[in-house]
Amino acid sequence: MTFCKYLSLFILIAFISCSKQEEEINMTVPKIEYSEIEKFNNKWNDVDGVTKLRLVVHQFSSEDSFYTESQVLALVDSINTTLTQALPNQDIEKGFEGVYQIPKIVFLFDTTEFAAMTTTKLTTDLEDSVAGAFVRQQHQDIDGSKYVNFFLIPYTDSDGFGHTRIAGSDGANDMIKGGIYVYGKTLDKGIISTTFIHELGHYLGLYHTFGKTYPSEIDCDKMKNYIENGINELIYERDGVQFYANDYDDEIDDTPYMFVMGYRPCNDLFGPPHNNNFMNYSVIKNMFTQGQCDKMNAVLKSESRRGVIIE
Ligand SMILES: [Zn+2]
Repeated sequence: MTFCKYLSLFILIAFISCSKQEEEINMTVPKIEYSEIEKFNNKWNDVDGVTKLRLVVHQFSSEDSFYTESQVLALVDSINTTLTQALPNQDIEKGFEGVYQIPKIVFLFDTTEFAAMTTTKLTTDLEDSVAGAFVRQQHQDIDGSKYVNFFLIPYTDSDGFGHTRIAGSDGANDMIKGGIYVYGKTLDKGIISTTFIHELGHYLGLYHTFGKTYPSEIDCDKMKNYIENGINELIYERDGVQFYANDYDDEIDDTPYMFVMGYRPCNDLFGPPHNNNFMNYSVIKNMFTQGQCDKMNAVLKSESRRGVIIE
């Protein structure tokens, strides 16, 4: 073998190994075992009086960290149960029995495109804190108008446990792109399900119960003026960004004005907090209010999101 031939062979081998690596990152393997998914869909399809949405679960992982089909089914089953089954009385936060409501939304796997569950291998160098951001960047423009895309990424992310885009407040003209991203190293059904439901709230137009900013400073007199007289004054300014009184408002009438994780400087003004609300940052998150459920269902029925509804 001449040097030239040897060199071109070497280049060819280098090229093949490059494209193989590329393929590993992008390879999507649709599952074709549909019997369990059909059973799952039939079970939830029989439930009356709920809004049924099409769902696709996209997993991004190294091969040995993929959740099995039955683990994913159990996870979505627990999400559906939480969204449709009333809490026992003793689990409803005291003082909020009157506004407590369940969203009455369930997810059925979309089987029209044979991709109800997909698994995509990530190379080892992505199995760290950059995996969440990487998947999000790659899929932020994926079409979300036909089904809800649930990205399950078993690695931590510097941005927290989950991520999504908040629906436009009128829900009318916003394009749905991307989906709901949840990060977690282990399949703790409880944590992943709670995180998914929190992000679902954002996806369907809800702000945090403490509003549109993370509260760090507050002027109780100005907040009182906003709550009682509707006067929207500047509260404070940080790094050139101005925060007004209505930035602390989630625009839902039956959730209290409140602050996150024990930070409540104007206690007399805001009344009892709603710690256990799904849209708070507290440890126990188990309930929505009637106003929040109305908002989520209204956004779902808006023009751009109607496609994800089965019935
Ligand atoms: Zn959030």
